[in-house]
Amino acid sequence: MTAELVLRGAKVGDATADLAIADGRIVAIASELPGADEEIDAAELLALPGVVDAHVHLNEPGRAHWEGFATGTSALAAGGTTCAIDMPLNSIPATVDGAAFDAKLRAAERTAYIDVALWGGLVPGDADRLDELAERGVVGFKAFMAASGVDEFPAADDLTLLEGMVRAARLRLPVAVHAESDELTRGLTRRAVREGRTAMRDYLRARPAIAELEAIGRAIAFAAETGCALHVVHVSTARGVALVAEARGRGVDVTCETCPHYLVLDADDAERLGAIAKCAPPLRDPAERVALWERLGDLELVASDHSPSPAELKQGDDMFAVWGGIAGAQTLLALLYDEAVARRGLAVARLVELLAGGPARRFGLAPAKGALAVGSDADIVLLDPAGSWDVARADLLDRHGLSPFAGRRLSGRVVRTLLRGRTIALDGRIASPPAGRVLRRGRGGRITA
Ligand SMILES: [Zn+2]
Repeated sequence: MTAELVLRGAKVGDATADLAIADGRIVAIASELPGADEEIDAAELLALPGVVDAHVHLNEPGRAHWEGFATGTSALAAGGTTCAIDMPLNSIPATVDGAAFDAKLRAAERTAYIDVALWGGLVPGDADRLDELAERGVVGFKAFMAASGVDEFPAADDLTLLEGMVRAARLRLPVAVHAESDELTRGLTRRAVREGRTAMRDYLRARPAIAELEAIGRAIAFAAETGCALHVVHVSTARGVALVAEARGRGVDVTCETCPHYLVLDADDAERLGAIAKCAPPLRDPAERVALWERLGDLELVASDHSPSPAELKQGDDMFAVWGGIAGAQTLLALLYDEAVARRGLAVARLVELLAGGPARRFGLAPAKGALAVGSDADIVLLDPAGSWDVARADLLDRHGLSPFAGRRLSGRVVRTLLRGRTIALDGRIASPPAGRVLRRGRGGRITA
């Protein structure tokens, strides 16, 4: 096939190679490929598969003033993400049935700059809704084991979770859980608020590591019992990752993710930064952060959990009252490249696995997504390892740009993002009209747009 575009001389794995693209796909990876109509000089740049961010909250329809597809996916594109999986909250309606899926689809069409797949919600009530969502092509179902923070997405009690997993197993789709004990976090929160202890330290203490560990253990027990594939989102402790790895070792189909904020920030940062660094599970003590790095080898993926809100919801001194959620759509790859590759010497191949290959395979988006390979979508990031990025609010394209990472100098710079062969972001700015698709996961695991 004649190539329409050739990227020249990029670093691909350990080699230097050209990448030829036709019809939105990679058609050849080799040295000194024949010329094409369009050529991009990629000398000295790392060519990576576009990041697959398995955990973002784009909040549209219904809370587009928090974040929307246009702004959220702009930030994702500029940061090197070409495919994101949108969480079933905090949009209104929450994506808990077929009609809500359709509303989400309409919101994403013509406004998303990157490809988007959808999580459905597992909440108490009519379980037939899971079938509706599966029929429409969700990648799996997300459940909260503790309060979600929004009324329209209630937590899954144990029976809802257990029976939801039975249903999901039959549908051959994974269940993703926010794993924190409702009993423990609710009780500790009530006590702190009643006693008027509402500073950041008090908030952190109300969500201790044991709340996470207990919930992960319970979710694993349910997965082992039902045969349901389980994914634990935003694990914040090394012990949580270890529980997952141990269960996988004895044959339970379970994986987990962490987020850059648990690797880069800690409880001291939370106190210093305040509401902008509030999240759940919360930032942990410095020793926990160190331990989490040591468990990186047991993680399948790292996701941003981009969960922004307007500034007014981040104001006030009561850390239980302010919105919890960290805006990180644009900084996922940059932070991981800087912290893991540049500072700690992680192999680029492992970075690619955590940010692209791992999530794409786990959620049925491979082989089209997650790899630089002949036949894959030409979703490519060019990163300049010799460059750097001083993260500044003015650079951030998400709706509010309230990043706890602003002010950091990061080694490496994302210079270009291509979606199916088209340059969608160039040096931190959007470079073409929105052409993202909503991807649907089919019964046989096939992905259609
Ligand atoms: Zn989330």
